[in-house]
Amino acid sequence: MFDHVFRPGTLGRLRLPHRVVMGAMHLNLEALDDGGAALAAFYAERARGAAGLLVTGGTAVNPEGAGGPGYGIAGEPAHEEALRRTAAAVHEAGGLLALQLFHAGRYALPGAPGTDGGPGWAPSPVPSRFTRTTPRELSDARIRATVEDFARAARRAVALGFDAVEVMGSEGYLVNQFTAPLTNTRDDEWGGDAERRRRFPVAVAAAVREAVGADFPVLFRMSGADLVEGGTPREDVGALAVALAAAGVDALAVGIGWHESPVPTVQAQVPAGTWATYAKDVKQALRAGGHGALPVIASNRYSRLAQVDEVLAAGDVDFVALARPFLADPGIVAKSRAGRPDTVDVCLACNEACIDRSFGTERVSCLVNPRSGYEAEFPLTVRERRGRYAVIGAGPAGLEAARTLARLGQEVEVLEAESEPGGQFRWAARVPGKEDFGETVRHHVRELAGLGVRLRLGHRVGHRDLAHLRGFDGVVLATGVLAHRPDLPGLALPHVLDYQRAFADPEALGPRVAIIGGGGVGVDLAHLLTADPQLKRTPEAFLARHALTAGGPVARLAPRTASAAPRRVTVVRRGRRMGAGIGPSTRWVVLDELRAAGVRLLTGTGVEEITRDGVVVRDAEGGRELIAADHVVLATGQEPERDVAVTLRRAGVPFEVAGGAAGTGALNAVRATAEGLRAAHRL
Ligand code: SF4
Repeated sequence: MFDHVFRPGTLGRLRLPHRVVMGAMHLNLEALDDGGAALAAFYAERARGAAGLLVTGGTAVNPEGAGGPGYGIAGEPAHEEALRRTAAAVHEAGGLLALQLFHAGRYALPGAPGTDGGPGWAPSPVPSRFTRTTPRELSDARIRATVEDFARAARRAVALGFDAVEVMGSEGYLVNQFTAPLTNTRDDEWGGDAERRRRFPVAVAAAVREAVGADFPVLFRMSGADLVEGGTPREDVGALAVALAAAGVDALAVGIGWHESPVPTVQAQVPAGTWATYAKDVKQALRAGGHGALPVIASNRYSRLAQVDEVLAAGDVDFVALARPFLADPGIVAKSRAGRPDTVDVCLACNEACIDRSFGTERVSCLVNPRSGYEAEFPLTVRERRGRYAVIGAGPAGLEAARTLARLGQEVEVLEAESEPGGQFRWAARVPGKEDFGETVRHHVRELAGLGVRLRLGHRVGHRDLAHLRGFDGVVLATGVLAHRPDLPGLALPHVLDYQRAFADPEALGPRVAIIGGGGVGVDLAHLLTADPQLKRTPEAFLARHALTAGGPVARLAPRTASAAPRRVTVVRRGRRMGAGIGPSTRWVVLDELRAAGVRLLTGTGVEEITRDGVVVRDAEGGRELIAADHVVLATGQEPERDVAVTLRRAGVPFEVAGGAAGTGALNAVRATAEGLRAAHRL
């Protein structure tokens, strides 16, 4: 199984047991004041999962290169101590660790230590939509000093016990900003034509090589495609690859896209393998330039080793870097090598607890694996005493609580009122691009079965269960939510239904649908109702849809032809922000899909009444309109369902509440699973 993945390979002098590399992720653990405990525990767990070579999140080569307040900085004693501890922990766990050398350039977020409250530093003062700032221009002297900072940070990596370094030269950060005409408008030694624009990355590669010596592995993550107008021209990408090879790097990892790209790159809507073609181009350029033996590492948007095996089998790349899949399941490689890929917890590419958090200061974690980033706080140590616990509700919070208790060696019974487990995930799994939410449910149920957990479906807990409940040492109450019904005229009309019924049977809805409520649920439902059944979810179709095969301008998704949309859907939201609650890296992608499908998105619009003909709305200017609809769906929020708490109190059994049952404020799946984990540990 996965013969191409499980072939040994080499990166410089590193001998690796397989062709997967754990790619860099900024975690917001790097600058924690904990002596490196959380950082070391995070990477060691992945090393124990047979990750092989792991690359750290970016360590800023100087304070002005930090991407935000949570970045580690080379030369900072506390940060370096955390890195030293992490390298030692990874080695003890049998892994190898590369330090990523990073400079954010114009992507330094406000509050980053080296920005002194001002914007970041870049080749040219070109405003950034990502940070909403205009960076300061680096002088020639600062550029030369920055090259030396990369070299100094590389020397620190050697001293701290790392096995390799990787220069971060993609995703629109400083090094990449030098190669793109958009962000490098200089006309001096460092810009003006293609050769001068690549002088900075090549100088960095050469300086790092010289700093660490001929034998120490140096990886370079370059951009295979910037995917912004004015990005590095495609022909310059190949020339850069050849120049970096000549400068002495041991491998080229190929990143894709910038944070400002109008094309999604890492979201669930992107089919696996879409970006392999750009890594293949790099390999071809290297072959043509006489460096064909240099390993190329593909990356971005793989969630399963079967997909990795496929891209490796094509023979155009040598390794594949996976990042988020190691958050979802640190054991993805070990489980697959043991012949059990079916037991891997699959990354949903939702970005909700990882990429979205990495742009702020909150600790990065994972929706499907809330222990991620918290390994030190929630160790999987079997408790000495085996107690008996019940979990009421088999939605995301309940499933997480149940598997956590079982992993801690406890006897667990799950009681679920519905005939199927999964709670709100059952609806999410129907939305285009979110199908893997169903895989999470299947995975957790399989894991529970393997851990000996009893799952009782179709059992609504009530007073008749009092005696049974008294037999437990504790209970997690995770009964989820009920759809909220607003107070509106016309609510009792037969064509009005709540979102749960609409998700359960979307085919029953007519050709014109009005959705009241434009939060995450309403937007997801609109996406489901307007999905084009003919749309192919292949890399080729994706690239064509985004006009990337045509070589035209890098632009947002074009509207579909009207005939491709199966329904006319209108979403009405009182608030100003459609899709509020969806993470920033995904919200715009989903809204683009809706606009392309012709969905009407009305914000700042209140509903006056529902009539037999549709919904009467009034906008902020007082304009009144009847939106004709065959069905009106209520996606107007949720209320906690926790009636069972009364029964539990009567039973006198200790209990913890998790997920929607605990409250619906800021409720999302990340909060639900994290609360499931914490509730289990508190009991
Ligand atoms: Fe994957 Fe979502 Fe977890 Fe991020 S939060 S690792 S995207 S499942």
